[in-house]
Amino acid sequence: MTRLYLLKIGEIALKGGNRQMFENQLKKNIRFRLKKHLISYTGQRGRFYAEIADMNETEVSGCLSKIFGLSGFALCSKTEKTIDAVTAAAEAVAETYLSDHPEAVSVPFKVESRRADKAFPYDSYELNCSVGDTLCRRFPQLKVDVRRPELTVNIEIRDYAYIYGNDTAGPGGLPVGCAGRGILLLSGGIDSPVAGYLMAKRGLKPDAVYFHTYPYTSGDSLRKVKMLSRILSPYTSGLNLFCVDFTEIQLKIKAEGKPNRTTILSRSAMMEIAHRLALIREAGALVTGEALSQVASQTLETLRVTGSHTSLPVLRPVIGFDKQEIIRIAEKIGTYETSILPYDDCCTLFSPDHPEIKPDFEELCRDFDKLALGEMIEKAVRTAERIYFHPDYPSDGLSDDKENLFGE
Ligand code: ATP
Ligand code: MG
Repeated sequence: MTRLYLLKIGEIALKGGNRQMFENQLKKNIRFRLKKHLISYTGQRGRFYAEIADMNETEVSGCLSKIFGLSGFALCSKTEKTIDAVTAAAEAVAETYLSDHPEAVSVPFKVESRRADKAFPYDSYELNCSVGDTLCRRFPQLKVDVRRPELTVNIEIRDYAYIYGNDTAGPGGLPVGCAGRGILLLSGGIDSPVAGYLMAKRGLKPDAVYFHTYPYTSGDSLRKVKMLSRILSPYTSGLNLFCVDFTEIQLKIKAEGKPNRTTILSRSAMMEIAHRLALIREAGALVTGEALSQVASQTLETLRVTGSHTSLPVLRPVIGFDKQEIIRIAEKIGTYETSILPYDDCCTLFSPDHPEIKPDFEELCRDFDKLALGEMIEKAVRTAERIYFHPDYPSDGLSDDKENLFGE
């Protein structure tokens, strides 16, 4: 069975000369997600229509509600441009709504028409009145209320007439990929998955990197990050996760670094590795889940240190959020329950009891240089393993293709 959906774009509609680029990226992302189910995709200037086959409404809604760039969508019917056909389609919309709300005795509603084709003999107002009258007569539960309608029957007269009821809100934002690529430092915590989600919402295509210190951290920690990658993958139009063996570096820092500086030193090494990955992956930014003053390694002084290990912009979208705000987003996108699973991260295992909060910048840079991690960093990058997560693969998070960073 094939259904027609109206797709509304949000912020893209405000774009000027390069709007086409955003629209093309959106189309590409929708195709990627719906694949063979997408039978046709047409439209222009803010209104797109997708014919979708062999997916039920819940499945379609599940997909579309995670595609950034869409501000809303609705199941839609397309008819000839005659008053009879339009009225019949509007009646069908009302009928569906009322059968979905059988308990409703009084439903405030309105008809909202847009007439792009001025040759249509009814203007918008006349169309609203004519269709509204018919609906009131046929369905006594419906009461006109143009201010606070529970049901809006939309009619758009364009190349054909398009009729649809209440639309479902889309995720907003801009299509993933239109802002280029970024390397997301993805730990198993609450903040970094949210950071990845927020940057994807602005059109950035993230590649995730996870630093593991096996056997000091368990396979469960890696499994948790894989599960988070899986949950993020519909929002990011698929997700590459690079797993970096950080054990050697972490042990050297533990053995030779000043005890109260181990966290900031390992964070610095992570940024160096992420920077190199960015160069290989042609990414233009790094993304972290750092929030100002949340922990000792997230003061202005320590952020300056970590930021100094890359010449790329470091995007920290949750920098001004408090924990509750981050948690609310994590719950909304479905990462929270996984993030709070009690598996250790390398940072918690190796973190000092009394970390330095305001390290001297020059001194810390010298400490880092003294560790002479160059070769180890080189090796960590070279041996990184890539795991690709597709939104539609089974959800165990473990059965993905694995390959070396360089595809060997
Ligand atoms: P999160 O909840 O994202 O783990 P956090 O509050 O625990 O954040 P930190 O542990 O200080 O903060 O880490 C700060 C940021 O550094 C993280 O948000 C993440 O971007 C990055 N990071 C930390 N540990 C790792 C890791 N093992 N692998 C990848 N990135 C990491
Ligand atoms: Mg953490």
